[in-house]
Amino acid sequence: MSKQQPNRKLLIGGYVMQGAGEAIRMERKDLIIEQNRIAAIGDDLRKRWANHDHGAGDVYHLDGKWVIPGLINAHNHAAMSLLRCFSDDKRLMEWLSQKMLPAEARMTAEDIYWGTHLAMAEMVRSGTTAFADMYIEMDHVAEAVAEAGMRASLSRGMVFLDERGDERMREALQLCERWQGACEGRITTMLAPHAPYTCPPERLREIADLARERNIPVHIHLAETEEESEKIAARYGVTPTRYLYDCGLFDDNHVLLAHAVQLSDDDISLLVGMRGGVAHNPVSNNKLGCGVAPIEALREAGITVGLGTDGAGSASSLDLFVTMQAAAWMQKVSFRDPTRLSARQVLTMATGCGADLLAIGDQTGRLKEGKAADLVILNPDAPHLLPHHDLPSLIAYAAKGSDVESVMVDGRWLMYKYQLTQVDEERIRYEANRRAQRIVADI
Ligand SMILES: [Zn+2]
Repeated sequence: MSKQQPNRKLLIGGYVMQGAGEAIRMERKDLIIEQNRIAAIGDDLRKRWANHDHGAGDVYHLDGKWVIPGLINAHNHAAMSLLRCFSDDKRLMEWLSQKMLPAEARMTAEDIYWGTHLAMAEMVRSGTTAFADMYIEMDHVAEAVAEAGMRASLSRGMVFLDERGDERMREALQLCERWQGACEGRITTMLAPHAPYTCPPERLREIADLARERNIPVHIHLAETEEESEKIAARYGVTPTRYLYDCGLFDDNHVLLAHAVQLSDDDISLLVGMRGGVAHNPVSNNKLGCGVAPIEALREAGITVGLGTDGAGSASSLDLFVTMQAAAWMQKVSFRDPTRLSARQVLTMATGCGADLLAIGDQTGRLKEGKAADLVILNPDAPHLLPHHDLPSLIAYAAKGSDVESVMVDGRWLMYKYQLTQVDEERIRYEANRRAQRIVADI
């Protein structure tokens, strides 16, 4: 499989995931991909494939393999893959200030480029086709995304704790100007004030206004820990959610809220009707002991909830199959009720809801005619995927990232039969390892 691929592809005889929520079903269907779009999903499309005048293409026999929409990681700091399992089992603020921040201060733009490539190799291998990324040196991140062929919503994380705030704002806006819609629309951009506790009210108001004027979505951490709630209460006398609300962040802006763990009922009522929604990061929240986000209450209030991993520095893994399982288990155990957050609901969160959070739901997230051809083929033959009683349940609860055999984004294979087609994976491994050793030395 070379980087150049035919413009037309026929995928025959896979079980294709369609529908959303409890209505998700897997049916044996053929798919025709033309250019970057799903041109047709139907029964026995071979005749239609043959009767065309758009040039030749390739035929792929799926023989009962499972085809699902590409998974969408709605909150990540991809380059933190270089800090995976470098500092575990610590409190969030200690982990951040004593380990992550000193290590990140040593990262060069080149390190971030290779760290992002490492994260994308992992994400593609585990069936992720799009991700929301908040980090620094975003031109280098965008170049890596352009090369790897993934879809991404990129944002320059902005903290305003020193005198360099204006510089960060400039970089954030430059990213949006340079990269919004790049690579045939695969790259989109957001504005990312980092979190309530790192952004004063005047900055949040400025960003809320800018985002509204320029129609740029906003990506921000919210209410991740109790400590954050205490800080915001001491400074402003309100909850973190009320603080963002009072700064006008939700006024006609699309806002992607990462975490939203510490929410009161009042906080949830402030979010009702918001554009955007919440990226739930259950593995990161579990591992850092942050608590259980009120996902069921948010969903009942009509707020879109998708799934994210957060950076591999906290989550360890960027495998969204692990994330789906963690999300479901966390709700079930916290309510002592196994009917909470079903397999089909977490599958919807990891696909269509994620696309809506990234503001690309009109393009991707669901397998439908006319949508971008972003899809994942799973090999259903592993012992842990047998027998085939209920396919959506198997995919949400029993599958692993390593069951992903092939991945297509925008009509192009990024992985075909377990081989990454767009990048030199060996070089990525070498560069990431070498650089990570230097970055963490003596910290
Ligand atoms: Zn984060």
